[in-house]
Amino acid sequence: MATSSEPTFDLFIGGQEVPGHRGDRQVLYDPATNHPLGRVAVAGVEDAGAAMESAERAFRESPWARDDGARRGKALGRLASALEADLESFARLETENMGKPLRESRGDIGYVVRTLEYFAGLADKVEGETIPVPGARFDYTIPEPLGVTVHIAPWNYPLLLAIRSVAPALAAGNSVVLKPASLTPLTALRFARLAKAAGVPDGILNVVPGPGREVGEALAQDARCRSITFTGSGEVGARIAEIAAHRLVPVTLELGGKGPVVVFADADLDRATKGIGYGIFQNAGQMCWASSRLIVHESVRETVLERVRAIAEKLRLGPGLAEGVEMGPLVSREQVERVLGFVEEARGDGAKLLTGGSRVTEGELSHGNFVRPTVLTELPASSRALREEIFGPVLSVLSFSDPEEAIRLANDTPYGLLGTLWTRDLGTAHTVARRIDCGMIVVNEAPLTYPQSPFGGMKGSGLGFEQGRRAIAAYMRRKNVLVNLATSKR
Ligand code: NAD
Repeated sequence: MATSSEPTFDLFIGGQEVPGHRGDRQVLYDPATNHPLGRVAVAGVEDAGAAMESAERAFRESPWARDDGARRGKALGRLASALEADLESFARLETENMGKPLRESRGDIGYVVRTLEYFAGLADKVEGETIPVPGARFDYTIPEPLGVTVHIAPWNYPLLLAIRSVAPALAAGNSVVLKPASLTPLTALRFARLAKAAGVPDGILNVVPGPGREVGEALAQDARCRSITFTGSGEVGARIAEIAAHRLVPVTLELGGKGPVVVFADADLDRATKGIGYGIFQNAGQMCWASSRLIVHESVRETVLERVRAIAEKLRLGPGLAEGVEMGPLVSREQVERVLGFVEEARGDGAKLLTGGSRVTEGELSHGNFVRPTVLTELPASSRALREEIFGPVLSVLSFSDPEEAIRLANDTPYGLLGTLWTRDLGTAHTVARRIDCGMIVVNEAPLTYPQSPFGGMKGSGLGFEQGRRAIAAYMRRKNVLVNLATSKR
């Protein structure tokens, strides 16, 4: 039961912590125990409007947009250093709020530091062009920030996925309104405070957690919104695309996945099986880029399955803050129901359970949202567990006899985010990488990315890319200036 003694968290608008127009607060629960963790202010439509207003005013009146990029880069660099200095407490807060093991949260916050550093370095390297045109004319382009950019983030990597797009938007000179997921707003709110201390002007970064359908839509629909970056489910992504189409604003969509991990007969099976385990059980499988479909050559199927089962059964489950924990709880009770619903349905369809498939119902962990690492085999092709994103620690297994079949199975999904290949043969690696319809392919490694590498999906996994040099251009417009240089006779 919630009491009034839990810490409270406010919205962050115009450089101020504010309780929100309606004064509503939502209780957040620790996913490891389901005990109340804190009470967070819930934004409504009025607060969304106030955040957009403050962002628009800051864009017009503060020097942020007009300053040269180097000054913005310096502020983002200071923010990166401040976050690095406070990494441990941010990581703890992320784990308390979302549940993942502290080791993973440290990695996530470190990734945010590197993302800020990367875009801080790029802030003064965005250049226009001069374009040759006939006669005494001078033609050039000027890159300019868009204005107010809206960022809507999910709960699985709360700060990382928010700042992945906020950092380039800020580096480009925009002002930002961020809506974190309602379940996991705490690190984003704290980050906004840190940004203010690092010299980001008031109103340039606003954070308004609240119900997506109400606050997210209000932000996207607002006439002051000049671009929308959405990371989340395909269903909501399609709705956001509709709003963007009506409003004629650019949109970046980072959506779900059903990642194939293809293991060829010649693969280093030791490394491959560790990579498979990491690719599906890290973050308790709550990853858009999870390797959730294992496609293994029939000659090594039994060996691989035996090793993956051993990894799954040895994983140490526990509260994210406990020492040595390898897999934490799922984010919420609803997520447990959803994940186990997929497993039950698959079994009803005739799938076999190699391991897992249940909640932990004994001991301390029974109070939290713990689901055992799960491996399903012999799924019928029509099974929803094979086709839809489960977003939990559930691996579905398929096998193949020749590379063409592996490619067909890998592409047999509405998604196309990240695919993983395991082979020692260079020719196989490069040829198959070209033929798999995913925005990202990783060879002989578990899913991996860096702030400097493009991140994005094909097919139902999204539209546009984040990260990398070009990401900053998504938050800028280009103006062409044509000048006639002829001097008129007097
Ligand atoms: P979700 O779509 O339910 O919510 C995402 C965000 O959108 C939340 O902040 C939510 O409050 C908001 N939202 C919900 N309805 C809205 C609406 N009608 N208008 C505007 N905003 C709205 O997704 P989730 O459950 O938070 O996250 C899980 C999903 O995110 C999975 O499908 C996962 O694959 C995807 N994801 C994708 C990536 C990627 O980079 N491709 C990364 C992480 C997660």
